[in-house]
Amino acid sequence: MSDRAEVAAACRRLAAEGLLIGTAGNVSVRTGDRVAVTATGAVLAEITAEQVTVVDTAGAVVAGELAPTSELDLHLGVYRRYGASAVVHTHAPMATALSCVLDEVPCVHYQMLALGGSVRVAPYATFGTPELAESVLAALDGRAVALLANHGAVTHADTLDRAVEHALLLEWACGVYWRAAALGTPRALDERQQAAVIEAAIARQYGTTRKAERR
Ligand SMILES: [Zn+2]
Repeated sequence: MSDRAEVAAACRRLAAEGLLIGTAGNVSVRTGDRVAVTATGAVLAEITAEQVTVVDTAGAVVAGELAPTSELDLHLGVYRRYGASAVVHTHAPMATALSCVLDEVPCVHYQMLALGGSVRVAPYATFGTPELAESVLAALDGRAVALLANHGAVTHADTLDRAVEHALLLEWACGVYWRAAALGTPRALDERQQAAVIEAAIARQYGTTRKAERR
C-alpha cells in the first residue's frame, strides 16, 4: 500500500472508532524526507488516497492536488524533534474533555506506561500556529502522546499502526480516568509501582504473542 493509501486507511479506522469526527483531526506518515499528510477539509471517515498530500520536510507540496492540514507545522515539528515516522492528531471525545480540565492525566493504569506514563496537557494556543506546535512539542518530551488544552490529543510512533494504537489506548485511558474521577479521586501508580511494571513487561515480553510453554 502507498503511504497515501495507508494514511487514508488509518483515518477511516480512527473515524470508525469514533476518534476522528467530521473533518477534525489529521494523520501523517513519513518515509525518508517525504511526509504523506491528510488534506485540510477532508471528511476523514471517507477519505481517499487522493485526499492525502505529500510534502517534503520543509512543507513544500511534492504530490497531490489539495492543501495539507493546517497543523502541518505540528507534524513536521514532531518528525524533526523526535525522529518519529507517524503522527496522529484527534479531537477524540474523552481526551478532549480531560484537556479542558487537567494539566496532566495521572498514570492511573499500567498500560499508560506504553505511552510514557502520565500524560501532559500542552497549554492552549490557537490551532495551526507555531505557538501551538511549540507547546505540544514540549509536552511530548519523553512521551509518545500529549493532550492539547481545550483542543484534543496527539500521538507519534515509529510506524503508523503504532501511532493509531497509541491514539486508541490514550482515548481508553482518558475514559478510565473520566469514570474513576466521577466516583472519587483516582489513585495514581507511584514511581516504584511504575518501575515494577516496566521490569515485569520486559521480563515477560508483555503485549506480544508467544508460544505456550509445555508443562
Ligand atoms: Zn485539532
